[in-house]
Amino acid sequence: MPMPHWIEPHPTGIYVRPADAWIDPSLPQERALVTHGHADHARGGHGHVWATRETLAIMALRYGTASGTAVAYGEEVRLGGVTIRYVPAGHVLGSSQILLEHAGERVVVTGDYKRRPDPTCLPFEPVPCDIFVTEATFGLPVFRHPDTGSEMDRLLAALHAHPHRCVLVGAYALGKAQRVISELRGRGHREPIYIHGALERMCALYQDFGVDLGELRPATGVPAKDMRGHIVLSPPSALNDRWSRRLPDPITAMASGWMRVRQRARQKNVELPLVISDHADWDELTDTIREVAPSETWITHGREEALLHWCMTHQIRARALALVGREDEDEG
Ligand SMILES: [Zn+2]
Ligand SMILES: [Zn+2]
Repeated sequence: MPMPHWIEPHPTGIYVRPADAWIDPSLPQERALVTHGHADHARGGHGHVWATRETLAIMALRYGTASGTAVAYGEEVRLGGVTIRYVPAGHVLGSSQILLEHAGERVVVTGDYKRRPDPTCLPFEPVPCDIFVTEATFGLPVFRHPDTGSEMDRLLAALHAHPHRCVLVGAYALGKAQRVISELRGRGHREPIYIHGALERMCALYQDFGVDLGELRPATGVPAKDMRGHIVLSPPSALNDRWSRRLPDPITAMASGWMRVRQRARQKNVELPLVISDHADWDELTDTIREVAPSETWITHGREEALLHWCMTHQIRARALALVGREDEDEG
């Protein structure tokens, strides 16, 4: 039997015993430390939440204002003898790894993360630690995301090749949509971008936090001809529904790490799959583990088998935690 540790993985979240607090709990808890705003990590109904200012704003948008303490990156918070710091995770606006120090031991809980540049959030900062708690959404060697720039070039090439059509891009409402828009702006695309109503409030929130998204226009109530030759963004769920039928002969695209899997693209009738992911791919996962050099790796969710095996062959102890309710398939 291993010794009970001061950090306890439970199916419903990670419990930090001396702080009497939970990290990304899937059930309402008195004290919650939240890594980022995605619904599988940030739930409503907690007594008190510690998170970045951005994550608290995202949670307020979704669940209404709740009791919370805004923690700046690098700031030290002490709870019951545990020193806690939030460190950028490079996943979405405000996303953090949570660094905990107690009893001479350092634990990093990453939440979700990626290593590629993202113009809408601060880059992931590797922190050497004893226990590294990682996701494994794309934890198979077959997942190697292409360069983001080449995917954006394919999107713009499709747009310019069909001036009488529009390109409809399905993108998750928190993070991916704003990243795609920001990447387009960074490549000199100055035209207005039309957005589905379900993206409006989150885009406005990003803009409030200083992310430049350029001119956005609501797609609803606009004559189809006005959207010819333009990019339209919607949540993935709207790609094939009635809403999209009024668009001018759309080329259907989707931005997700899952677009690497052809079958998923076909299922959603996606003509132009764009492999753009907010999660680490196989190389990013293994490079990051090498870099933070933990004595132990805990894998929260995703495809853990291959990563467990990789850790074993690299003399790193590893275990799968099997947290419930993680991973939204559209989030990829
Ligand atoms: Zn996430
Ligand atoms: Zn997640």
